[in-house]
Amino acid sequence: MPDGNMPPAHPFDFDAVNSDGDKLKEECGIFGAVGVTDAANFVALGLHALQHRGQEAGGIVTYDPVEGFNSARRFGYVRDNFTSQTLMKTLPGALGIGHVRYSTAGSKGAAIRDVQPFFGEFSMGGAAIAHNGNITNADALRRELVERGSIFQSSSDSECIIHLMARSLQRNIPERMEDALRRVEGAFSVVAMTRTKLIGVRDPLGVRPLVLGKIGEGWCLASETCALDIIGAEYVREIEPGEMVVITAEDGVQSHRPFRPQPSKFCIFEHVYFSRPDSIIGGQSVYETRRQIGVELARENPVEADLVCPVPDSGTPAAIGFAHESGIPFGMGIIRNQYMGRTFIEPTEHIRNMGVRLKLNVNRALIKGKRVILVDDSVVRGTTSRKIKEMILDAGAAEVHFRIASPPTAWPCFYGVDTPQREKLLAATMSEEEMCQHLGVDSLKFISLDGLYRAVGEAEGRDKSCPQYCDACFSGEYPVEPADMIKKGFQMKAAE
Ligand code: SF4
Repeated sequence: MPDGNMPPAHPFDFDAVNSDGDKLKEECGIFGAVGVTDAANFVALGLHALQHRGQEAGGIVTYDPVEGFNSARRFGYVRDNFTSQTLMKTLPGALGIGHVRYSTAGSKGAAIRDVQPFFGEFSMGGAAIAHNGNITNADALRRELVERGSIFQSSSDSECIIHLMARSLQRNIPERMEDALRRVEGAFSVVAMTRTKLIGVRDPLGVRPLVLGKIGEGWCLASETCALDIIGAEYVREIEPGEMVVITAEDGVQSHRPFRPQPSKFCIFEHVYFSRPDSIIGGQSVYETRRQIGVELARENPVEADLVCPVPDSGTPAAIGFAHESGIPFGMGIIRNQYMGRTFIEPTEHIRNMGVRLKLNVNRALIKGKRVILVDDSVVRGTTSRKIKEMILDAGAAEVHFRIASPPTAWPCFYGVDTPQREKLLAATMSEEEMCQHLGVDSLKFISLDGLYRAVGEAEGRDKSCPQYCDACFSGEYPVEPADMIKKGFQMKAAE
């Protein structure tokens, strides 16, 4: 889709079907490459592998010594835009970065000017920046910057970083970026580029992921390792919390520590849901961690039943672990239509109301007469869970038991994940028993926070005095105070 305003969501679009906000949504994926011929092709492939982190829009910026900086930003999937030879020819150079994003609740109907990477022209040359995360003091920063004369081009929080860089008195762009990011609170993983350098930064708590890869003589940075695999890059290591790497084709990787060291608070939900199961986080396979979550879930919440079924696709590894631990047979009782996408059919009201049935169908022959355990990654509003339960009962199941591979999601995320307001979260207003009745199932159980920590490799469970991860959406304990939201009236959890 060419530049312009976002089109209205199509009722047959995968996201539109899921638009009741019944899943938390990661808002961005980022990728950068330096020292490779036609970097834009690598960036496009990397972004394609990260499409699960953002499906609304994507953008790529490249630099070529003859052609200078070039950029393309488009709504829609990477595969529908950045496969066109005509477009890719406009993005020459051996250095490039890219970004994919989801629409957030407040930005439906966003304009192309909100699509990253953002670009700024400084006295020492241009720089482009792509940001994954959320700046929790963005309102205050924007107000200050506007009062001092900055002219914002977009409604995105991430643009603050470019304006803070413009006001810095440092002599080079990496130092200006350090200056800017020291003013920023919240969660950020950033890839940026100058004419010669690829730069990667993670916030001091390391809330959002960023990994380093090597490809031939070149280097790349990505939100997840699955984006390295697709281009045949070798995984080198994670960028550490609070680390900035400055990479050139000639000198390789230089590491800086611009921030005061703090205990790491990586997002534990990356293990549960956001990251792709074929990615590696902290040296651990995401798939294996999810399988282990299923094992813990079965230990904590056993139930007599005939069949363990995943809610596809994200519940599958946990369901495999649950079935293995419980000894109850695993079966694909729900089948996902892999080809949901935009279609030329103009849907009627009747079709629109089919909702989840457009995406998921019950395997009746398997379900009929059975006591079924459904394993899902999370319950957000509960709307999808209710519909799935109805489908399973319609197919003749004798009993339906929900087992959830995360603790109750009772608090919104302010660190780069699209979450409904607190009052819309089922677990914010109901006890487990009330949720069970509301969903109309025979039983409903969640993994405990300690069980989740054990599954991600913390044998002793959660360290209450200094939790090893960010788990604010479950615990209400926010590692960075969401200053803007508190000003807007958000009530933090009262101290116990
Ligand atoms: S609040 Fe939840 S989703 Fe957000 S960063 Fe923390 S653990 Fe991840």
